[in-house]
Amino acid sequence: MSVFPKISLKPEVTDYLRSVFLNKEVLDAVGHQEAECRFQKLLTCLSHPPSYTCVRASTHLAPLDEIRHKLGDELKKQQMCSSSEDISVQILPHPRIPDVLLLPVDGPRPVEQLGSEVVVGAQCGSAVLRGAHVFVPGIVASPKYMKAGDVVSVLSDVEGRCTRAATNFQGKKVFVGNGVAHTDRSSIFCTDEPAKGIGVRMVEPIYQSPSFDGVLPSLTFLQNLPSVVVGHVLGPLPGERILDMCAAPGGKTCHIAALMRDQGEVVALDRIRNKIDQIRQNAQMLHLRSIKAFCFNSTKAVSSEPAQEAEGPPFPPESFDRVLLDAPCSGLGQRPNMSCTWSLKEVCSYQPLQRKLFHAAVRLLKKGGVLVYSTCTVTLAENEEQVAWALHTFPCLTLLPQEPHVGAEGMLGAGLSPEQLRLLQRFSPELSWEQSGEAAPPLPCRADRDTIGFFIAKFLKN
Ligand code: SAM
Repeated sequence: MSVFPKISLKPEVTDYLRSVFLNKEVLDAVGHQEAECRFQKLLTCLSHPPSYTCVRASTHLAPLDEIRHKLGDELKKQQMCSSSEDISVQILPHPRIPDVLLLPVDGPRPVEQLGSEVVVGAQCGSAVLRGAHVFVPGIVASPKYMKAGDVVSVLSDVEGRCTRAATNFQGKKVFVGNGVAHTDRSSIFCTDEPAKGIGVRMVEPIYQSPSFDGVLPSLTFLQNLPSVVVGHVLGPLPGERILDMCAAPGGKTCHIAALMRDQGEVVALDRIRNKIDQIRQNAQMLHLRSIKAFCFNSTKAVSSEPAQEAEGPPFPPESFDRVLLDAPCSGLGQRPNMSCTWSLKEVCSYQPLQRKLFHAAVRLLKKGGVLVYSTCTVTLAENEEQVAWALHTFPCLTLLPQEPHVGAEGMLGAGLSPEQLRLLQRFSPELSWEQSGEAAPPLPCRADRDTIGFFIAKFLKN
């Protein structure tokens, strides 16, 4: 069921995306009506959250089943504190990915909106739709006399137009559920040191899923399914030296180190200094010592000096067994996302940077090494077209099959052959059974299709 309007985009961006999803090769293959229908489903799907929560379990610290049971106990305790009903928490292992647990999301649920409104930023609103409570920094407006204990409706300022500390915002906002204020208005906006922690505890969210705040922090990590697939596709082995070129906040870096049983070295680079602390904090929380994080521009990560053993960047060519380039991108696959105010120029600005990073990645990789390129966007220009460019620019690269391959194949339109497209993995969210009226397939089957938009390519350097 669709409760929110389609993602709102600038008309020039909608036109661009339509030209991508209705490109000539696609039209020849499926026809205009089917291509338009898929495109419209995509736009609807992007504004809604996936129908399950994906948790990566720290199987380097404990067996999956033990983590599953502990998580069940923790979530039960959480529910007993917030509700008198005995609701059992369903936690299912993924049939093909050995460190993934899936938890169904209950929603959309009919929840009545109240007169008292707290407005939160779009990012906070999206987090609420995925099970989070509202944290104080996410609040942008509240009723004038709000006191701790008041019951309020939470609305997301989807276009980021609300002035901080407003009392009555009339702009575009979307209702995401009801909660109880944990703090007075004065502690949010009027003090030198604003309150931290939970600002509104959600009691009636439109999409109900457990809040993971403080739940088994070393044993579970919230991560979108395709992001977990990336780690497995890279296939790091204990003792190897791996480079994660665009690593913050470090979800994939930590997964790579965990898959290596923390043996070897994972070098994590990111250009933004304060994000390096997030990588280090995540590594510490998951008890991973093989991660070395540096603030560095990865386009400059290849040293021109003669080869020397270097701990930090820049590195001599051919320093790494495997390289992950989880590239900065237009992010149009993120869900739920109700509005993107970017211009077409901004959406199209990433291709040159991704190519610069790709050049560095290929040089830093050993011969015989593996390079994985991934994005969380749906455009051809940042995905299949980059693959076609890379194969043309670097004759030493060939595409490799991916394991697991649970997404769809690559999209038509970039001139890749059917064999090449089959080697690519594109996660293309589609609103499926709910809209078409079919019965929903069981969660583990549904999970592979109901993801964020994502793309993965795996190369061998010959
Ligand atoms: N791999 C991360 C994870 O799984 O947690 C997400 C990475 S996010 C898609 C892209 C990251 O690239 C951002 O953190 C951004 O700061 C970083 N970035 C952008 N340009 C960069 C550059 N030239 N060198 C290094 N990092 C860069």
